[in-house]
Amino acid sequence: MAALPDAYRQPLDRAREHSLEWLASLPTRQVRPQRTADQVAEHFSIPLPDGPTDPAAVVDELAGFAEPGLMAMPSGRFYGWVIGGTLPAALASDWLVSAWDQNTALRYASPATAAIEQVAGDWILDLLGLPATADVGFTTGGTVANFVGLAAGRKAVLDAVGWDLDSNGLTGGPRVTVLVGEERHASVDLALRYLGLGSPTTVAADDQGRLITSALTDALASVDGPVIVCLQAGNLHSGAFDPMNETIRVAHEHGAWVHVDGAFGLWAAASPRYRSTLDGIDRADSWATDAHKTLNVPYDCGIAIVAKPSVLRSTFGIHTDYLIHDDARGPGDPWEKVPELSRRARGVPVWAALRSLGRSGTVALVERLVDTAAELAAGLSRVPGIEVLNDVVFTQVCLAFGPDDLTRRVTEQLIADGSVWMSGSHWQGRDILRISVSNWSTDADDIATSIKAVRHAFEVASSA
Ligand SMILES: *Cc1c(COP(=O)(O)O)cnc(C)c1O
Repeated sequence: MAALPDAYRQPLDRAREHSLEWLASLPTRQVRPQRTADQVAEHFSIPLPDGPTDPAAVVDELAGFAEPGLMAMPSGRFYGWVIGGTLPAALASDWLVSAWDQNTALRYASPATAAIEQVAGDWILDLLGLPATADVGFTTGGTVANFVGLAAGRKAVLDAVGWDLDSNGLTGGPRVTVLVGEERHASVDLALRYLGLGSPTTVAADDQGRLITSALTDALASVDGPVIVCLQAGNLHSGAFDPMNETIRVAHEHGAWVHVDGAFGLWAAASPRYRSTLDGIDRADSWATDAHKTLNVPYDCGIAIVAKPSVLRSTFGIHTDYLIHDDARGPGDPWEKVPELSRRARGVPVWAALRSLGRSGTVALVERLVDTAAELAAGLSRVPGIEVLNDVVFTQVCLAFGPDDLTRRVTEQLIADGSVWMSGSHWQGRDILRISVSNWSTDADDIATSIKAVRHAFEVASSA
């Protein structure tokens, strides 16, 4: 009785209206939010009402109170962190995912969404040139995708030395050494912490943040026992890629499991222009990437890929028979590939994004993001006093404006101005302003506006 269609019509109409208004405001609105979280909370924090409120009125109130506290993250002039916007087909499909409300755990119980995710996974393996037999799991994001790959690795390397992790846990077992580049993403450390593996052993990186192959070779030579090597495709600051071919070869010689964190950079493998930089990456054992970054699907959606399905499924599958399993072992059930049992069909918007872009559109999306980063870097490096600190090889640009305090003032001025958003950060000993290009809609106008905004902030900060 609850699902009477008429009960949904009005609130959904209101949600559609507010969504379209929000999207229409993006080209002209300030990127930064106009209210702090505390200010927004003032509107929302009333005592829990005693009685019910009309659903359409709830949607109106939500949209009205939230609006001034929204950051224009889907704007073409948002370059903070690596966030990405939302492709039209992906957003609309995400609405359907909510309306369908399929608990995408078992192929048997939610055949449609399980099948769609299966196809989306196959397309991703094809696009990225990864083994067609690998398993793909849809996670909340890159952090959990890293967790999945590293969890599978932990299981495999302990299995290889005869340690039964499932029965014994880690206590009393052999120590697992995890080797990571100095500039790996902090989420790798988080995932290792969740896994009880402690702090990783760092391997030296070069001036672009790439792990140095000879340093990895030396590190491997000095470890005994189970080893995981975690490489990076796409450094948050420089965009650079760790060398893959030789590192994966030496790691495997030492019996190590190789995981690649490619949250945004793995998508370079889709482009013939950049694929050679990642040569050999298909020989890794697991890979993590995000769809909510480079692929521009809505939050939240990460992708965990593991070459050997049996390892992944024995890591995350339930080893009891109290729920019905699909008899056909081929594709495996969604819940055997991620930490969640119950979850939304977050892979469906991935299917929609890829279906709408096609192969050529996906490649063009990746290449346009890189070209945009190059154009921003070129335009800004022509301004006397602005330094581009990294080799712009992908979507990331690091800027400095002389001394650290001036760089910090430019960053504050730029964010207050509101026509763009870029992140203040710290890299290779200097305070920086970082540009991350990850929105499909950033166009020539946005590029020109952004260069103007940075120049202006530099002028104001310099004369203060
Ligand atoms: C963003 C990012 C992550 C974490 O991904 P989330 O989706 O934020 O959990 C991991 N590694 C790199 C290189 C990233 O850029």
